[in-house]
Amino acid sequence: MDFDLFVIGGGSAGVRCGRIAAGHGARVGVAEARFWGGTCVNVGCVPKKLLVQAAEYGAWAEDARGFGWRIEKGPHDWSALIAAKDREINRLNAIYRRLMEGAGATIFDAHAEFIDPHTLDVGGQRVTAERIVIATGGHPVRPDIPGAELGIISDDAFFLPRMPKRIVIVGGGYIAVEFAGIFAGLGAETHLVYRQPLPLRGFDHDLREGLAEAMAAQGIVLHPGCAPTSVTEANGHRVLTVGEGRRLEADVVFFATGRAPATARLCLDKAGVETAKGGAIPVDAELRTNVPHIYAIGDVTDRLNLTPVATAEGHALADSLFGPGKRTVSLRNVPTAVFSTPPIGTVGLTEEEAAAEGPVDVYVAKFTPMRHNLTGRARKTLMKLIVDQASQKVLGAHMLGEDAGEIMQGLAIAVICGATKADFDRTIGIHPTAAEEFVTLRTRTRVAGVARAAE
Ligand code: FAD
Ligand code: NDP
Repeated sequence: MDFDLFVIGGGSAGVRCGRIAAGHGARVGVAEARFWGGTCVNVGCVPKKLLVQAAEYGAWAEDARGFGWRIEKGPHDWSALIAAKDREINRLNAIYRRLMEGAGATIFDAHAEFIDPHTLDVGGQRVTAERIVIATGGHPVRPDIPGAELGIISDDAFFLPRMPKRIVIVGGGYIAVEFAGIFAGLGAETHLVYRQPLPLRGFDHDLREGLAEAMAAQGIVLHPGCAPTSVTEANGHRVLTVGEGRRLEADVVFFATGRAPATARLCLDKAGVETAKGGAIPVDAELRTNVPHIYAIGDVTDRLNLTPVATAEGHALADSLFGPGKRTVSLRNVPTAVFSTPPIGTVGLTEEEAAAEGPVDVYVAKFTPMRHNLTGRARKTLMKLIVDQASQKVLGAHMLGEDAGEIMQGLAIAVICGATKADFDRTIGIHPTAAEEFVTLRTRTRVAGVARAAE
């Protein structure tokens, strides 16, 4: 065999797996067809966060007046922002490529696909490997409606030649709400069209309600309960038709309607690797596919599609195969942040999930953050703890408000360690912060899940 391990895909999962495996002394090859660092570095987390930060500066310029600054908010230069973002992404992209080379892996700037269970075609070259890891991630999908190709997807949003004056974003997931905040913050008239009564299906109900209120307060026009039916072009504009024929006209229609695993071009049948509905590759706890020497990690398995999960899986697999011993990654209590405006941070069970299991004590605080008492900006912070009534363990922590992602990282450790409400209560707060509220939630707001317990 040419390699002990061949990794297909140089994204978050593949780079980590290849790098750690090579560090353990394995002969490693990695193929990347498009961009080193994958989605996160090039068209995901990193450029998205830079655009979120760009939008925040606009609000800060307005808010500064409340603190005595005489700052006039000038026009925003979209081209300058995109050029700065591109410089940073190119820098990171090159670092990822160098990391792989530096680790001693053989890198291929090429598409890879299976010829047989141990042989790959890598950019026209035949390569054999003892074990193969599929880390090909996913790609955005448009809804199956007439004219969908007239809408952009998240990959395009990072390279728009000019800032739209009016944008309609379709979807109510992570990407839709994050980009609604970005475009609204940069000055576009922003419409958000989603099928559910509230955005972010699956998140805690109070957070979803709080986010919808915050987006409306920011001037984002919300269209709940609306499904898109077609896109057409008229006078250089796009027209999105929703529901029973209501028409929304904009410079740009943006489909943030989910992602699909990138498995179509891998010739998986030649290796006998099975896929589930939608193309995802099912794996066991050891990240093995149905073919014992072929593994799949990260978004291509379509379970929890987050960068830290992808890197954790890549690292654990490399350690298990070539390191000191077997390791698995738990997908319970994975914290996550949505970089909406304001952001959301969450870990553990939602109130609805916890209440379905049994009685829980629910603690909620909603308040105007100190800063906005001076700025006058209509923005609330929401914090919430879900506590198991029997064990008093904190099952879930949720926040909508500035720095929610930063705050939630620490709370996730407490939840994973099984901290109780009493542990939170005996922790001294840091004053004056918003985060201290999590250790001073004294009064129970309500009890949930009692009906289920009575059954
Ligand atoms: P990817 O990063 O997609 O990497 C797969 C790589 O494989 C790609 O580079 C692709 O070119 C390559 N490839 C595919 N097929 C082949 C082939 N046949 N041969 C060779 N190479 C191939 N997650 C967070 O945790 N936080 C965030 O803030 C966040 N923001 C996001 C924002 C956006 C707009 C998007 C789209 C995603 C975001 N995510 C975020 C999700 C995160 O980007 C993914 O979970 C993560 O990138 C998954 O890593 P991966 O390695 O599994 O796949
Ligand atoms: P999500 O799965 O989060 O959301 C997809 C949205 O599109 C849902 O609101 C869904 O509605 C809607 N939708 C799907 N199909 C249609 C359709 N045919 N018509 C109308 N609406 C439709 O996907 P995203 O694209 O937002 O993001 C992909 C994944 O990437 C996320 O799930 C997350 O794992 C990751 N990500 C993480 C981020 C972070 O960590 N901050 C940021 C961005 C992405 P419904 O709810 O009704 O099904």
